[in-house]
Amino acid sequence: MAKLRRGWGIVLSAKDVQETDRLATVLTEKEGKVPILAKRARRIESPYGAVLEPTNYVELIYYVRVGPYLLKEASLLRRYPGISGELARLEAALEGLNFVEGLLPERVPEPRVLSLTVGFLEELEKGAPPDVLLLAYELKALSALGHGPHLEGCVRCGSEEDLTWSPGEGLICRSCGGEGEEMPASLWRAMRMLSRLPLSSAGRVRLREGEVKRIRALLRGHGRGDYNPA
Ligand SMILES: [Zn+2]
Repeated sequence: MAKLRRGWGIVLSAKDVQETDRLATVLTEKEGKVPILAKRARRIESPYGAVLEPTNYVELIYYVRVGPYLLKEASLLRRYPGISGELARLEAALEGLNFVEGLLPERVPEPRVLSLTVGFLEELEKGAPPDVLLLAYELKALSALGHGPHLEGCVRCGSEEDLTWSPGEGLICRSCGGEGEEMPASLWRAMRMLSRLPLSSAGRVRLREGEVKRIRALLRGHGRGDYNPA
């Protein structure tokens, strides 16, 4: 007999598979990121199709097995109507969850990332500025997983002069061999503030649209370990 288990967590993503099934990735409290297959979830009579939507906080009962776990029951504990009802917020939420899903290993508990994710969704729901909040969430998730970029001056000597960006590391000055793109003080100081401030205060960091795009590209390259400025 397959083992039954109960779990709670945030749905990071979900996609339709086969004729009527849905495959969700859920960041659970006890097991971290897990894939869960909901058989016949897209049938009209199924109560689970609408539960397994990204951003929902859900309770699940599932069979443990090799490959994706098999859903037995799902119930909705918390949804975020303020996010799903506004495009800019929904896009930020989905982008953040997608970024974090890519960073997380499967079936490894990451309670800090889960509480960070809940905090991110709660702040979005309350109306925090989505673009800045997204950057703060991604920076904090990288740090929580031990991949945070070095933002305290040059990673080698601590200097705050002539800084450049090294994907996978963070700031490095030209004297220490930094050859990447130049990092203006306003940009890296803003990133440092976003990583230090609680998510609820991220909205205090003022950024121009170009700066938001640039930081986003830096984090994408940093998280992947390669670098492709958009
Ligand atoms: Zn240096």
